[in-house]
Amino acid sequence: MVEEKIKQAVDVLSKCNYVIALSGAGISTESGIPDFRSPVSGLWSNADPEDFTIERFRVYPQALYQVGADLFQIITGAQPNEAHKALGELENKGLIKTVITQNIDALHQKGDSRNVLEIHGSLNGASCIHCSHEEPMEKILQDVQEAIIPPRCIECGEPMKPNVILFGEAMPPAFQLALNESRKADGMLVVGSSLVVSPANMLPDYVDNLVIVNRESTPLDDSAQVVVHGSLSDIMPYLKDEWISRQAS
Ligand code: NAD
Repeated sequence: MVEEKIKQAVDVLSKCNYVIALSGAGISTESGIPDFRSPVSGLWSNADPEDFTIERFRVYPQALYQVGADLFQIITGAQPNEAHKALGELENKGLIKTVITQNIDALHQKGDSRNVLEIHGSLNGASCIHCSHEEPMEKILQDVQEAIIPPRCIECGEPMKPNVILFGEAMPPAFQLALNESRKADGMLVVGSSLVVSPANMLPDYVDNLVIVNRESTPLDDSAQVVVHGSLSDIMPYLKDEWISRQAS
């Protein structure tokens, strides 16, 4: 049954000329990073989204580090799984042109994807909210371990903020590039996203052929040509092999 759905997905994708991927937190759960909205294991089952807003960070930056420190530690140590690697291989074969990701974990790059647009930023480092001085995340996490919370700028003493978009912040320039890619594409493969976070969930609207691979249903399932439900680390290697062999024949 799932195999049949995957073949239908490849039928759609292999007829497109310019396919892009849009990934969400679900692609990284099998690398040990919790997503936001999965029942029980999702972050929102245990944390308050308010602590991830820019308004809260401006008045009480400690909260982001107190609540997020464990997650930041997990993310910086995580390794790509079979689903990230499958996308990397598909890009290397020319079948996927760009990966647009809502993730901040840089696992696509570690999984060999090269053309990655990080529309919510990356946890690769942190910047001073006053003078923009940057530090690598390892230094920030070391401060946190030494109970220096929030970590402060060595130049001006203001709090350091991870290079990610908090709720309430403007989107980075990568989002405009993602919009351009979505307008250019005729196929989109969504992997591991609940598709409830705006404006990322507007991107599929620009693309004619939509395939969604996700464990749970999404609000855009009715707009998709094919929806495959299941675990990404099972589905993506199979989908990748099927698509590559279809291209070769
Ligand atoms: P989400 O948490 O809203 O949804 C994740 C979806 O993935 C869920 O629908 C779930 O059913 C599905 N899923 C989980 N594990 C799966 C698996 N192994 N196989 C198939 N499907 C699976 O995530 P979202 O849509 O990306 O939006 C939430 C926000 O979370 C994004 O803005 C992102 O920046 C942020 N976030 C990122 C990370 C990360 O970088 N890894 C982690 C947590 C949250």
